[in-house]
Amino acid sequence: MTFAELKALDETYVMHTYGRFPVDIDHGQGATLYSLSGRKYIDFTSGIGVNSLGYGNPKWMAAITEQIGKLGHISNLFYTQPGTLLAQQLCTRSGMDKVFFGNSGAEANEAMIKVARKYSFDKYGKGRSTILTLNRSFHGRTITTLTATGQESYHNYFFPFNEAFRYADPTLESIQAQAGDDVCAVMVELIQGEGGLRPLEVSMVQSLAALCREKDWLLLVDEVQTGIGRTGSLFAFQQFGIQPDVVSFAKGIAGGLPLGGILTNEKCAGVLTPGTHGSTFGANPVSTAAGLAVLETMDQPFLDQVREKGAYLRAGIQAIGSPELGDVVGLGLMLGIDVKGPRTNKELAALLIDHGLLCLTAGDRLRLLPPLVITKEEMDEGLAILKQTLMG
Ligand SMILES: *Cc1c(COP(=O)(O)O)cnc(C)c1O
Repeated sequence: MTFAELKALDETYVMHTYGRFPVDIDHGQGATLYSLSGRKYIDFTSGIGVNSLGYGNPKWMAAITEQIGKLGHISNLFYTQPGTLLAQQLCTRSGMDKVFFGNSGAEANEAMIKVARKYSFDKYGKGRSTILTLNRSFHGRTITTLTATGQESYHNYFFPFNEAFRYADPTLESIQAQAGDDVCAVMVELIQGEGGLRPLEVSMVQSLAALCREKDWLLLVDEVQTGIGRTGSLFAFQQFGIQPDVVSFAKGIAGGLPLGGILTNEKCAGVLTPGTHGSTFGANPVSTAAGLAVLETMDQPFLDQVREKGAYLRAGIQAIGSPELGDVVGLGLMLGIDVKGPRTNKELAALLIDHGLLCLTAGDRLRLLPPLVITKEEMDEGLAILKQTLMG
């Protein structure tokens, strides 16, 4: 099949909800991808932070093929090994107490919201159900997680939205200004992803954690994008010196298969009782076997390398010295680049993709989320394309 044939079929049969680039991807190896016609691309996107081990990772493929030959799905009415072992790994490595598995980021955040509301209901009764979220946040595409998303542009068309959310700027004063007897939790991304690659200040996050303890608000941390090694620690919260009440994860956990979930601390571990929550595909044995391969790969030396690679990429971008680029922000291999114009970040991203470097945008920034296994050679190739594109 040619790209033109594929594009025509897609336009006929697939809903037009995505602004796609005029590029098809057929296969890949490491952090390098190839189109149907064999055109090569360096990948600084990981399928939006998902393909943490890149493409064709032998350990990941072996885990999946072995598991799918044994059992592809059975439901949560029975015990299965991979999900339970993955839960054990996630808890012991995060200092959290229990896991619930679903399939996606939005579904994980829905579970996190349910924990917060029921924790408060069990303890205080009705009326304490409001969750504070931050302006420019992104928490998902279901009606409730869209409401949680602190961007006006998402609060359209699909009325009525859920009521009990209020929005604040990422400062303690702004959050305190939204306080009230109706509040049960605060939900944050430690580095806002879709909303513009905006890291929160460590001291602000620590003060927020203290405020939450004082008010008995749950601290909900959305690590759907920052989690599972992306920032150079298993979870980003481990670099902010806090221990959340609930953490959600998804994108990178299974290296490319659908899987998401939440971790709770001991205080919240018993909130969701039998019958109060569920997910048919949750803890799918193949996805969780893939997740085990991902976590086993992410030992301390691997995580140290993520930080080193992030620093290398950051220095390489700054060394280009282009007046079109400003500061590079972020942690590990979650980086945002200020774009100063005259071209917009979206124009620049389209041009980079055209020149063979896949990258993302977020807010006004270019956003880079390369596979965590990216090699020095692949980073150099990507940087060379960036330089050529800016100079050309
Ligand atoms: C991507 C993302 C989500 C939504 O995840 P889906 O798997 O698309 O539902 C939620 N929160 C954050 C921080 C994300 O980056």
